[in-house]
Amino acid sequence: MIRLAIQKSGRLSEDSLNLIRECGISFINSSLKLKTEATNFPLEILFLRDDDIPGYVADGVADIGIVGENVLVEEGREELQVQKLGFSRCRLSIAVPKNEAFDDITALEGKNIATSYPNLLQTYLSGEGVQAHIHTISGSVEIAPSIGLADAICDIVSSGSTLISNGLREVQTVFRSEAVLIAHQNLATAKQQLLDQLLFRIDAVRKAQKAKYILLNAPNQAIPHIKSLLPGMKAPSILPLAEEGWSSVHSVVNEDDFWEIIEKLREAGAQGILVVPIEKMIL
Ligand code: ATP
Ligand code: MG
Repeated sequence: MIRLAIQKSGRLSEDSLNLIRECGISFINSSLKLKTEATNFPLEILFLRDDDIPGYVADGVADIGIVGENVLVEEGREELQVQKLGFSRCRLSIAVPKNEAFDDITALEGKNIATSYPNLLQTYLSGEGVQAHIHTISGSVEIAPSIGLADAICDIVSSGSTLISNGLREVQTVFRSEAVLIAHQNLATAKQQLLDQLLFRIDAVRKAQKAKYILLNAPNQAIPHIKSLLPGMKAPSILPLAEEGWSSVHSVVNEDDFWEIIEKLREAGAQGILVVPIEKMIL
């Protein structure tokens, strides 16, 4: 049995649970319980405060965990990181009152900055050669300037709307974060094998998320050009259509290149293009 620690309730919780489910692992999730066991994989899930997860994994109370890189690095536990997971992307940024002048980071010399991430902020400021007073507070950091507690803040931002509604302006990114899978450093062999199985499944899920299955019809004379536009996993499949002189082409494309490729395919003579999500992908 391998023990996974995830955030009980917060920004990481839903995507962490979804990832486990997409790996084909079923479990009963009750918001009242602090742990649950999977029904079809030797996995136990512990629901914890996110700040506690790196410590529990380091101590071996949990074998593996999912946490934001920002928390992991703030707590000085980078060595536990196994794999980036691509969700809960956010940045740790410095913000100042919106009418405050700010030419560059030296504007913060000698100023008071409120944050819940003193270590990440200190590392950044030291790198820039700026000395400031860091006030560590555990929450509601955005109100610190308006109540006279600080001249600036350093906090997690995703869209920036919380900053704007508190009269603040983002001026500098300090750290970029996403959710990461972490693991205890000396896992027993049996647990390491379970982790490897889980990593294999996570990889298949993540590759599939970035890929689309594409089907299209094209006149046979356009096929060589279309083939050159669609790399596929090995090569595209080309099947004859029930109509003379036409073929059906099947392939896999990366989401990032998707729109560009579709346009080129249309120019090349492709018709009836279907794009379908992929659930799992094993190369
Ligand atoms: P806990 O009660 O578990 O201590 P918390 O309040 O410290 O929760 P959350 O606000 O739920 O934490 O954020 C958890 C993690 O999600 C953060 O450490 C960060 O990695 C990520 N995160 C935070 N805010 C955002 C956001 N706006 N968009 C995306 N990810 C975010
Ligand atoms: Mg927390």
